[in-house]
Amino acid sequence: MNIGILNIQGDVSEHYLMIKKLSKKLNVNPVAVNNKNTLANLEGLIIPGGESTVIFKFIIQNDIYDRIIEMANEGMGIMGTCAGAIILSKNTNDTRVNGMNLINMGIKRNAYGRQINSFIQNIEIKNIGNFDAVFIRAPEIENVRDADVLAEYNNNPVVVKNNKKNKNVIAMTFHPELTGNTKIHEFFINNLK
Ligand code: GLN
Repeated sequence: MNIGILNIQGDVSEHYLMIKKLSKKLNVNPVAVNNKNTLANLEGLIIPGGESTVIFKFIIQNDIYDRIIEMANEGMGIMGTCAGAIILSKNTNDTRVNGMNLINMGIKRNAYGRQINSFIQNIEIKNIGNFDAVFIRAPEIENVRDADVLAEYNNNPVVVKNNKKNKNVIAMTFHPELTGNTKIHEFFINNLK
């Protein structure tokens, strides 16, 4: 299976290495993607954390906004992490980022404060187990509809997965690629099989 990593800005190589690490065990192949040609033939796509305004801008410039939505509607799985979760949301509190509405949720950018307020928190994730979650200028998810909340922190959803349409679209507000723990990537991939 080809798993694309949106190669615009942010933690691209970290996600690439995670998929590479799982390649034998799960029969997956990482592919760096940033235009319509490279997007072809993917079973899954990862939208990494980074800076959502920049990632959004280049998604538009590279003319892949509608194509990503179309592919999700055709069955491609998407995992959006941190800035990637912002890109997947329905409403954001920043007019510069127009979410794809692939998960019915609102999102508040930089809800925990500035870079210096970043933190690591052990959380319990349904079907995955406990996980050291790295929150870096993380957003906050609100008003979740048609999706399961798989984990919360401080009573706020931090991992959500659709349960009606586009069931393999999942978002989280932290960085699962930074601790060397592949459990979340494995969960995402196993759901695509
Ligand atoms: N603060 C970033 C944004 O709003 C997201 C941070 C991240 O991806 N670590 O785009």
